[in-house]
Parts: sequence; structure tokens; C-alpha cells
Amino acid sequence: MVPRVVFGKGSFNQLGQILSPERKNGAPFIYLIDNVFENNKTFIEDRIHLSGNDRLVYISTKEEPKTSQVDELVSEFRNAYSFTPSGIIGIGGGSIMDLAKAVAIMMNNTGSATEYQGWDLVDNKAVYHVGIPTISGTGAEVSRTTVLTGPEKKLGINSDFTPFDQVILDPELIKEVPKDQWFYTGMDCYIHCIESLNGTYLNAFSQSYGEKAYDLCEEIFLENTLDKEEADAKLMMASWHGGMSIAYSQVGVAHAMSYGLAYVLGTKHGIGNCIVFDKLGDYYPEGVALFKKMKEVHNIELPTGVCANATEDQLDIMASVALGLVPLWENALGKNWQEKINADTLKAIYRTL
Ligand code: NAD
Ligand code: ZN
Repeated sequence: MVPRVVFGKGSFNQLGQILSPERKNGAPFIYLIDNVFENNKTFIEDRIHLSGNDRLVYISTKEEPKTSQVDELVSEFRNAYSFTPSGIIGIGGGSIMDLAKAVAIMMNNTGSATEYQGWDLVDNKAVYHVGIPTISGTGAEVSRTTVLTGPEKKLGINSDFTPFDQVILDPELIKEVPKDQWFYTGMDCYIHCIESLNGTYLNAFSQSYGEKAYDLCEEIFLENTLDKEEADAKLMMASWHGGMSIAYSQVGVAHAMSYGLAYVLGTKHGIGNCIVFDKLGDYYPEGVALFKKMKEVHNIELPTGVCANATEDQLDIMASVALGLVPLWENALGKNWQEKINADTLKAIYRTL
């Protein structure tokens, strides 16, 4: 679990105060920031107190984080400094937070990030790292994974060293997120709840967080009566609770299939989950029915024909990436999941997207 968190409008202003005791013998803090803020630098930079050889790196989130990108950043920072940084601070959505977590891990571990994709493969504690979400829903701010696309798979580095040492949840940072993206990433949280609450891994711990996040999602996306400020604050909490729920259970069919889609076509996580989940009425009937209502409330039109031009080979790879995520299927369908799902069934669903 994340050991330290502050929450509240304006709490981002406390960053300097939070970091100062963590500075080690002049070693720098490295800030990885979504480059969407490059057009509005003062919004973030005015509230970061750079000193010494601290470094700001703006990162494009056009594509989701890759193992090669992590390796390149780590090598660049190792070459630039003769000592380990005091900390890595990720300011952005799931993409940037995952990148920050992975860089923090790899600064203290050898080899390539690809070697650590999986469960509990990390040897050494990560460098101190801080997560500051600027869009809410993924739960990356609280989870014990950092999802990376590598040459062979899209899979997280799941480990006890992955979670942030500190998170700052400031609802003011998410207020400018464009509507479609707000919905897609918000639905990631809703889908986490559905997959966790309907999974065989469910237990009292994950259920209590999942139910809270589910109720918040209903309030935000279905009832739609909150004012913007209240909705933003609640969405931050929904994302946190949804992340806590899956941290102690698992996701399911939509995530497995969305990973396959992302691996082959590069479809991003939030929108990819929505596109897949929309067609999973057989697996999550109530959850999908409610999702369709939420789409209606917010006039969201999902892309269609996503796999229309996919070749047979590509569909095979999608299915194989999805089926490789064993814990997700075991959670969704039980221990004998292999008797209930196969590549042909998945390919038939992919063709409908
Ligand atoms: P994202 O980080 O890719 O950002 C989506 C878009 O929103 C980008 O264009 C970004 O520039 C923009 N954006 C971010 N903050 C903004 C702001 N304040 N104002 C305007 N625009 C803003 O999207 P995401 O959905 O948050 O994250 C998706 C990533 O998270 C994927 O890589 C996925 O694999 C990962 N993920 C990780 C976990 C985990 O537990 N580690 C869980 C779910 C998803
Ligand atoms: Zn997700």
C-alpha cells in the first residue's frame, strides 16, 4: 500500500515541503511531467521548487509507456548523474505515473525493464517516488503495478517495490481534462469495480473498496447531479478505491482483451476498455447495461470498426496476448477458465469491436 497520501484542493502546493526532508546530499529530484502541461507551464512549474540539479522532463503520452522508454530514461539519468537521484516524481495520468514507478524501480535494479514484467521479480527497493495524478480513474496512483508494453508483451511490473512512497491527490489538477478522456479514464475505474466485484478473487478487503468506488461512479457518471468541483474530488476517491480493490483481487475479461487490443493496435487503455466492455454483456450483464446508460448520459460515441481491417494473424496475437494473462481469466471465470474460453471465442468478440 501507499504509505503516505495527502488529499485536497490546493494540496499540490505542499510538494516542496513534502520533498525537502527526502533530499539526499544534493542528489536531484527528477520530475516526469505529461507534456500536455508544456503549453501551460506555469500551472505546474510555479508550484515546483527546483533546486540544485533538479530536472524537469516533459513526456508525450501519445503512446503508452514502453520498456524501451524506461530503459532509455534510466540510462540517460545514470549518465547525467554520478549518484542516485533523491526521488522520481510523476505528474500526469496513468501513463506518466506508471513511467515514474518503472524508472524509480529500474534506477536501483540491473538490466532491462522487460526482465521484470510479471509478478514479484524485482530484487531491490525502488528510488523514493511520488505520484501526482492529473486525470483520475486508472488507480495507478495506488496500485502495485506499472503497466509497460515490451517487445513481447504488455504486462506490468507487479511488486511490493512498485507503489509510490507518497501520493498527492489535488482535485484542482484534473479540472481541465477534456470530456471524452475524462469519461474513458473514469470508466477504467468503473470497469475495475465491475471486474473486481464479479471476480472469483473477491474478498472482504477488495469488496469494501470496490463497493465504495462503484457507488461513487454511479453518483458521478449516472446520477450526474454533482457540481464539477465535487465530482472531481469524488472521482479522485473513486479511482483510489477502485485501485485498492483490484490491488487485492484482480481485473477480468475487459482488461485481458483490452491488453490484446493495445498490444496489436496501440489502442489506449481507457478507450480500449470502453470499446471492449461495451461488447461484454454475456460476461457482465448488469455492469454493461449500466455502462451503456452512462454513455447515453454523457453523449459518448465510441469508435466502431476498430478491428475491421485486422488480419487473421493480428487477431491471433490479440487473443494470445489476452489469454496469456492467466490471473485475469482465473479471476473472471474460475480455476477451470480454460474450459470456458478460447482463442476462437475471443477472436469472434474482437471482430465485433
Ligand atoms: P494517460 O495518462 O495516457 O492520459 C490520457 C490523456 O489525458 C493524455 O492525452 C494526457 O495528455 C491527457 N491529460 C492528462 N492529464 C490532463 C489534464 N489535467 N488536462 C488535460 N489533459 C490531460 O491516460 P490514463 O487513462 O490516465 O492512463 C492510461 C495508462 O495507465 C495506460 O498506460 C494504462 O496501461 C495505465 N494503467 C495503469 C494502471 C496501474 O495500476 N498501474 C491501471 C490502469 C491503467
Ligand atoms: Zn484499468
